[in-house]
Amino acid sequence: MPFFIPGSTTCVLCGKPIQQRVEATQLPLLDVASAPAFAPLVRRFVHRHCWEGYPQRDGYAHAARELILQANPEEITPLYFERDGLFLLGVPAARAFRVKDTWGPFEADVPAPKAARLAKGVLAAFEQQMTSEHALGSATWRLAPSKRGVVLTLSSEEEAFDQMEIPLTKQPAWSDLMRKLQQVATGT
Ligand SMILES: [Zn+2]
Repeated sequence: MPFFIPGSTTCVLCGKPIQQRVEATQLPLLDVASAPAFAPLVRRFVHRHCWEGYPQRDGYAHAARELILQANPEEITPLYFERDGLFLLGVPAARAFRVKDTWGPFEADVPAPKAARLAKGVLAAFEQQMTSEHALGSATWRLAPSKRGVVLTLSSEEEAFDQMEIPLTKQPAWSDLMRKLQQVATGT
């Protein structure tokens, strides 16, 4: 697995070094046998802005989604929700839930005891278009309204390490995922 080194790791799309982790994202796994054209990109880092302009983004995200659906036997990892590559999975061994979006791409684990509160906060942020912050142990989720949706920033020890805009078109799926998370986290 490639590691990220600020100022040294290069973006596989533009070839330039990535200065800060928060500008970058790591592309998800996919089955290279079924999508050989994407093989050079798998698990590589990209600038988020390069990824947003990448013409094959949807195709890559779709191939990554297929891999999870095929390789994810329910008995090992509970699958609570999926829509267009946006997944809510269980991580029982870690008493956590995993939010994973192959289109974002995005991946974050939410400790089970904090999950219901986070879900409520994310839903409120979408509905009220207000900035809010949610502490989940060492990580913090910050949601801030933007022109095109909501910007989600993940920080650890006050240092931002991931930042993704959730566009308005994707918010219905995120809202449904968060409602599902609320349900499974509270056991109702
Ligand atoms: Zn780039």
